[in-house]
Formats: sequence, C-alpha cells, structure tokens
Amino acid sequence: MSHEAAMIVGGGQTGAYAAMSLREAGFGGRIVVIGEEAHAPYDRPPLSKAMLTQEPMPAPAPFHAPAKLDERGIELRLATRVVEIDRSAARLRLADGATVPYDRLLLATGGTARHLAVPGGERALTVRTLEDAMAIRARLGQGVRVVCVGAGVIGLEVAASARARGAEVTVLEAGAACMGRSLTPAFAQWLGALHEGAGVRLRFGVTVREITGEGVVCADGVVPADVVIVGIGITRNTELAVAAGLAVEGGIVVDEFCRTEDPAIFAAGDVAAFWHPFYGSRLRLEAWRHAMNHGIAAGRAMAGRREAYADLPWFWTDQHGVNLQVAGLPERAASSVLRGAMGGASFAVFHLDAEGCVVGATGVNAAREIRAAQALIGLRRPADAAALADPSRNLQGVVAAMRLG
Ligand SMILES: Cc1cc2nc3c(=O)[nH]c(=O)nc-3n(C[C@H](O)[C@H](O)[C@H](O)COP(=O)(O)OP(=O)(O)OC[C@H]3O[C@@H](n4cnc5c(N)ncnc54)[C@H](O)[C@@H]3O)c2cc1C
Repeated sequence: MSHEAAMIVGGGQTGAYAAMSLREAGFGGRIVVIGEEAHAPYDRPPLSKAMLTQEPMPAPAPFHAPAKLDERGIELRLATRVVEIDRSAARLRLADGATVPYDRLLLATGGTARHLAVPGGERALTVRTLEDAMAIRARLGQGVRVVCVGAGVIGLEVAASARARGAEVTVLEAGAACMGRSLTPAFAQWLGALHEGAGVRLRFGVTVREITGEGVVCADGVVPADVVIVGIGITRNTELAVAAGLAVEGGIVVDEFCRTEDPAIFAAGDVAAFWHPFYGSRLRLEAWRHAMNHGIAAGRAMAGRREAYADLPWFWTDQHGVNLQVAGLPERAASSVLRGAMGGASFAVFHLDAEGCVVGATGVNAAREIRAAQALIGLRRPADAAALADPSRNLQGVVAAMRLG
C-alpha cells in the first residue's frame, strides 16, 4: 500500500468513475471522494425524466454499490464542501476549517444550474440535484400551470414530464427553435410539433422580464404560472481553480490527459475545458457518457498512464416517449442529409462539413444510425451523401466501404 493520497473533489458521475478507474489502474494509496451533496454519487438523467413521472418515484441510482467501494478502498466524504486549494502546501481546506493533504488531486466539481438574472428569478426552480427533482415532483399534478423557461434539453424534458403528469405546460424560449444549437431548423420544427402535439404550448423569441407570484412577466404580458422551472444551462464550478490560480477558460483548462498546468492537479467532466486531439481544439461538454469516460480517463491519468482522451461527443434525450440522440458537433456543419422520413417512427439527419465529411448526426429512435455516424465522424473522409440518404443502403456497409476506400 502506497502512502500517497488522491483526493477527488466532486461526488458526481465524473468523480465516481475517476475513483474506480484510479484504483483499477493500480493506484495503491488512499482515494477519497469529497462531495458537497449528502448522497453517494448518483445518476442525474432520471431527475428530469423518470423521477418526475414514475409512480412510485424511483430511488436514485448510485454508480457503484457501497460494497464495491469498500472492497476497492474508496472513501466517500459526503456533505463536505472544499473551499480552498493551497497548492504550495498541497492541501485542501474544507468548509468546517479542517485541512486535507493531497498528492494527486482531481477537480470534478461539475456545474450549477443557472438562475434567471431577473427580478424574482429566485422564485423559479432548477433541476440539477435529487432535492431539485423532488421539489419539482411535489409541485406537479393535473391542471397545475407550469412554465418552463428555456427550450434546451433540460427545459424540454421537464416540459414533457410535467405534461405526462397532467400539467398545463408552456415553454418560453428566447431563441427561435427547440434545441437550436443541435438541430437543423426542420428537425427543430419537428420536435416543436411533437411537443405541441402532446399539448405543450411553445413560445419563441420571448424575453423574460420578471417572475412574480402571478407568473412570468414577458414584454407582451404575464404568462400565468403555479410553478416556474428554468433550464437555461449551467455555470461551471470553477471557483476553486480560479482562486488557486489555475487556467480557466469557461472551464478548467486541461490537456488530453486531464492535466492542468499543475502536475498534481487534474480536472474532468462538466467542469473541464479539455483539449480534444481529434478536433485539435478545446471542448466543454455536459453529457452523461462524457462524464463517465472523462472520469475514467482522469483516473488512469492520475495513476500515471498516458492515454489521450478522444471520445467523440454524444448525448441522448427522452421526450414524450421519443429517444433523440446527437453525435459529434452538428453546429459545425455546412449541410445536412436526411435519412428516412422526418416525422416517421425512426429517422436521422447526418451533418456534413464543407468537404462533405460527416461531423455530426441527430437521430430519432435511430440508435444504429447514430452508431454508424460516430464511425463516419471518426473516419473524417468525404461521405457518399446519396448512400447516407437511402434507407435501403446498409450503413455498416457504407462505413466498411469508406474504411477500405
Ligand atoms: C436533470 C439532468 C438530466 C440530464 N440528462 C442527460 C441525458 O439525458 N443525457 C446526457 O447525455 N446527459 C444528461 N445529463 C448530463 C449529465 O448528467 C452530466 O453531464 C453529468 O452529471 C456531469 O457529471 P459531473 O460529475 O462532471 O458533474 P456534476 O454532476 O455536476 O457533479 C459535480 C459534483 O461536485 C460537487 N461539488 C461542486 N463543488 C464542490 C466543492 N467545492 N466541494 C465538494 N463538492 C463539490 C457538486 O455538488 C456535485 O455533486 C443530465 C443532467 C441533468 C442535471
């Protein structure tokens, strides 16, 4: 057993996977996950889905069973906030004044749901933690007037869940479309129609001015609400890194090995702005698979392995019983190709750059197409757009042909 201590700040998905992979990569010292929340690391996607709709409410799903954590000698220090990193002494200071030494440190502090910076903004609920989901769940019900601010993934998922509980739901969005950053205009229109078909009212180009006891005040009047929920993104929890003098550019800056400029300090997950060797640029992602795989990569890097992290972006969302998946970076596309019929039971859009290479894909109930798209993105070669558009052409065959060509 080594006498070294690895401290992981943040008991979310990234921290949980990092701790396990650090041990599995052979680190023999002490591993402690220090988390501000009172719960062992749990899965967040159900917070805006099953936890709002299912009866009875599903219990939070922990990433690792307590017995497994014990067996691997991973300690959880919960309900504990780290307030300072003293880099010169290699110590953390906790909110209760205690200090904890580290030899290797991972910052996996994730993000905090953003509130609306308007008068009464604090009246609105957000969804990031188990307590948030329980507070929203308790307010939902038949005929309750719910206003969701933001037509991004979280706002739309909550809108769908609230509707499933019989609420009267309105979504207010400042932009012009649903999930405007990831979807083509036609796709976004389809998604909007899905919501409207389920009885959700959508309003675009809306600026919220105030939230009052009556509802949401917009330029053209008040949208009455019993509950207001905002889904307008997160603020990355970078304050420890900033105060410690580490580089932060919208997220804690790390290389492809999750390393900050301090050789003892690593960062990963939602909080990180990481170098992606495939894109040759820095990315910030907020997605489940990234949190898991970046956490695993960070654990290995902390154990001294040199394996560059180059997982391609991917996320899914479930709304009104439909599974939507997004791979790659659709926002970097110059054109797109539809496979299947928009509005059919299953369809996908491949996003191509100016050279005709697949840079992203968006699919509805189209997991196979999205898997193929990930392979195509990785190949970075001009694709046969006609073959992509033709549902009778086997995509595995298209991928195989491109690999050979
Ligand atoms: C409601 C919801 C639904 C989602 N649905 C999907 C989905 O369908 N598909 C998908 O791909 N992704 C989804 N995601 C995204 C995914 O869950 C996140 O990307 C992932 O949870 C990020 O994990 P993380 O560990 O990096 O950060 P976080 O989950 O934010 O965890 C960070 C932890 O660090 C703690 N912490 C912060 N500062 C300190 C400190 N100073 N001291 C101690 N502890 C600290 C925080 O309290 C928190 O527990 C969803 C997220 C949410 C919130």
